[in-house]
Amino acid sequence: MQLKERNKYIRIKDFLREHGYPNFRMKQILHAIFKERIGKFHQMNVLPKTLREKLVEEFGETILDVVPLMDQHSEQVTKVLFGITGDDKIETVNMKYKAGWESFCISSQCGCHFGCKFCATGDIGLKRNLTSDEITDQVLYFHLKGHAIDSISFMGMGEALANVQVFDALNVLTNPEFFALSPRRLSISTIGVIPGIKKMTQNYPQVNLTFSLHSPFNEQRSKLMPINERYPLIDVMDTLDEHIRMTSRKVYIAYIMLPGINDSVDHAKEIVNLLRGRYKGGKLFHVNIIRYNPTISSPMRFEEVNENQVVNFYKELKSAGISVTIRSQFGIDIDAACGQLYGNYQKNNIQ
Ligand code: SF4
Repeated sequence: MQLKERNKYIRIKDFLREHGYPNFRMKQILHAIFKERIGKFHQMNVLPKTLREKLVEEFGETILDVVPLMDQHSEQVTKVLFGITGDDKIETVNMKYKAGWESFCISSQCGCHFGCKFCATGDIGLKRNLTSDEITDQVLYFHLKGHAIDSISFMGMGEALANVQVFDALNVLTNPEFFALSPRRLSISTIGVIPGIKKMTQNYPQVNLTFSLHSPFNEQRSKLMPINERYPLIDVMDTLDEHIRMTSRKVYIAYIMLPGINDSVDHAKEIVNLLRGRYKGGKLFHVNIIRYNPTISSPMRFEEVNENQVVNFYKELKSAGISVTIRSQFGIDIDAACGQLYGNYQKNNIQ
């Protein structure tokens, strides 16, 4: 299986140059894709027929590298399963908010090797990193179908900062010639890969950052999330603090409530301790409490979330002056969605 190292936009540009086409042809192709939402080369009528044929020969019928295999809809959520090179599959979630806002949760890896105990994707193991094209095509697919791309979270399958291709995908998504999205509409979610966080601080300061905490106790966090052995909590928090100091941007803390495991008042108090001594008294951290979804097939099983416990936890943080929200759930909660759908597809053995 040969994966392409350069993204398709660079490859098309190189192809045109090598075949002696003037620069405006590339502009016409980009206009067709991003303004007219045309995904098939042979439909780009502004191009000469010979060029259209050459593009199909070189790049295939469609601009997309991902193939939609199946989609599921609920009132506000559409989940799409895509096929990728090598007969693997990834998932993408589209959420429509009542106010008309459309948000997308995209995957950065097929599977994941970090083995977090509450996660179905971790259970699959890492099949491979996605290419930049496979990452951005999850968005392009919806764009071509006429959707507005209002915000994108890298919170589908995989750990975004473990795949170097994610950085190229960020460049493509924010490039004014391509998707032209403001970096503030993009969110990267990480379990605490410190070198990746530092790269975000340096090169992508305006992109939102979410850190998956899930336990404020170092030892317990190592048990739930083995990455903590490599990048201990306190070091990650210091790196996030530095990120805030350098960028003046908020950092979001994702906290999945695992009943009987991390939902005690002691846990809430420890989160307060963790955040309070930070830059500007931790005011630029915002905690998102997420209810665990017991229907997923994660390595460790947990009980149904106790609503009183969630509310008490929230109150404990709130009363200590921590900025905190309980995330609403519809369909699935997008922040807690790592690999849930893919796990189900696997179980049902969908080809
Ligand atoms: Fe990987 Fe994220 Fe799941 Fe952890 S939570 S196993 S990093 S996909």
